[in-house]
Amino acid sequence: MCTGPGELPAIDDEVLLSDGALLEPALQDLTHAGRVASLGRQRRPGDVWGHAVVGLDTSAEMLDILRRRLQTLPAAVQERVRLCQGDATSCVLEEKFDLMILPAFSISLFHNRQQRLQLLQWVSSHLRDGGTFAFDFIHYSADNCQALDGQVNAAEFPAPDGRVASSYGARFSTDRQSVTWNFYTQLIRPDGERRHYLSASQLACIHADEMAELLTAAGLEVTARQRAALPMGNTTAERCFWRCTRRERAAYSLWHPYLPMNHMEETVTVLVRGEGSRVWDREGKEYIDASGGLWSTQCGQGRTEIIDAVAEQMRRLSYGTLFAGRSNEPAMELARTLVELAPAPLSRVYLTGSGSESVELAIKLSRLYFWLQGQPERHRVLFLDQSYHGSFFGSMGVTALFDRKERFAPLLPGLDAVPAPHPAHVPPGMSFDEYALQCAAELERRIESGTVAAFLMEPVLGSAGVVVLPAVYLARVQQICRQHGVLLVLDEVATGFGRTGRWFAAEHQGLRPDLMLLSKGINSGYLPLGAVLFSAEIARVLLDNQSGIGHGSSHNGNPACCAAALAAIGVIRREGLVARAAETGQYFRERLQELHQYPHVAAVRGLGLMLGLELAEGEGSHRRPVSPARLGGIYLAARNRGVLTYPFPSGLSFFPALTISRDEIDVIMDVLHRSLAETSGGWQHATA
Ligand code: PLP
Repeated sequence: MCTGPGELPAIDDEVLLSDGALLEPALQDLTHAGRVASLGRQRRPGDVWGHAVVGLDTSAEMLDILRRRLQTLPAAVQERVRLCQGDATSCVLEEKFDLMILPAFSISLFHNRQQRLQLLQWVSSHLRDGGTFAFDFIHYSADNCQALDGQVNAAEFPAPDGRVASSYGARFSTDRQSVTWNFYTQLIRPDGERRHYLSASQLACIHADEMAELLTAAGLEVTARQRAALPMGNTTAERCFWRCTRRERAAYSLWHPYLPMNHMEETVTVLVRGEGSRVWDREGKEYIDASGGLWSTQCGQGRTEIIDAVAEQMRRLSYGTLFAGRSNEPAMELARTLVELAPAPLSRVYLTGSGSESVELAIKLSRLYFWLQGQPERHRVLFLDQSYHGSFFGSMGVTALFDRKERFAPLLPGLDAVPAPHPAHVPPGMSFDEYALQCAAELERRIESGTVAAFLMEPVLGSAGVVVLPAVYLARVQQICRQHGVLLVLDEVATGFGRTGRWFAAEHQGLRPDLMLLSKGINSGYLPLGAVLFSAEIARVLLDNQSGIGHGSSHNGNPACCAAALAAIGVIRREGLVARAAETGQYFRERLQELHQYPHVAAVRGLGLMLGLELAEGEGSHRRPVSPARLGGIYLAARNRGVLTYPFPSGLSFFPALTISRDEIDVIMDVLHRSLAETSGGWQHATA
């Protein structure tokens, strides 16, 4: 098909490297790769296709770029990477690769769909787990085809020894599935000598949609698409450069909450086993889980009482719903137990699947309560401007500590933040209590509008840095709500089940909430479960109006989740874990105070086994919250020494299992000392 007299000139570096630049993202993978295959079509004797116009299209040339690129990388990378040339036309490769590159339109040499699919399947079967396949193709639009068909164009570019001038023409097949290119190329030397080449080649026209479909059929997933304009005479086609990975091995298919997933795979801690306050990752490294996962593991991990109760329940009735007039014994018994434990006047229980769902329901129920009484205008829900209540639409709406909520706009209306008494915001010359009463006065002012249905708050602001709300504030807030008939909703998702040294934080100040929201420690985090407890008065309004609650999910009241809760509550009761949390919490808190010797420890706060370490930077009037980088450094330093903590925006929180021992707290303290000392940098006091 191709003809061309004589030897070809050496290929121009510039031309090669400009193609290399387009491949740059794939080339970056050289840093991680072990084995790299550069694929090309088989080079036949006398085959000149591509040199003048395309720049490169054979494996050898691509390999050359890779080799040069490799030389710029650290010696350790160079030693690890092995480059290999492969023939895409004959599909001969025996090993698996981390990076496979099929450059410069080579895919277009596979003329029919079946051939292309075979090639991609072969590539897919040769990619290592997490490996990358990179290739490019030209996407011709209908306009491109029309502009190019039958036209003759010219191009010129420099060569090492002169310049290359080329005339080319294209003819598309009637169905526009293929194009035949004819090239007449001259290499013009500085002394005027000309060498002539003539070539013709038939190429498949690849459509981006078809390409995507073939990749899917071959089990590949596109992870990045780049485009470059490709000028051709009087039109501009598009050069598509795609990177793929095997679909089931897409670098890290599990998506995590909140955090951007970039680099997650490199930093994630994958846990495989847990016992008490200890957990192990898959490399066998042991950690003390000082945060109880996400503040949930009251009884510690691996408790046979809870596991057996769940297994036994599953053997008896593995699934149950509360829809359609059905019920199940663990759900009923759990409701009775929660009412028994909870403060008055709570007497009814709606079981949910999470803390967020409990918050969602609390908003609905508060609105329903007033709507049923002919007061639809009382629909506003107030929340503190330092709150965390979850991530669903309603619960996100009442969460102040939520980064750029507007990304999900329009948001749920009728939710308003009021100032929270946070120690960081106390004006100079004012005590914390005075400031807290000022916040309460602002709450009352907002409530006086007459449109407020409920005030929702965490009795201890967990995510805002474990801030225990002052007793005077809580008492005043309760009074204000009573006075104005506003429902007081306590979010005890984090504070419930002994966490603060009482069954519920409400007990510390004798609060009598109208609604109380639970999750996390309800079954020690063994299975997903939450609950909304509400007063007899709310129940009365529903019953008087023969109204149900327009809310429900298939797993509400799941018997195994409830059995886990009953067993976990049993463990807390039998082992006196509530009193133990108060006692151990006191010890842990005293020990945390020692950390004041490090310059970036600003405060130690908390109640029971819910503790926070506030970190800051700078001195005197330049004091500011710790930077994310330094906080991340301290978190990692502790993690690497075997202690898992939970960061909040300006510090670390500690919510260990209520069963944690003093010895384990001593280990945590030892690690914190060393991690803070290591990350103190130039901040350490001279005396420290
Ligand atoms: N409320 C509080 C106080 C919380 O701390 C959390 C979670 O951390 C939630 C609600 C949301 O609970 P979940 O994560 O179960 O949806």
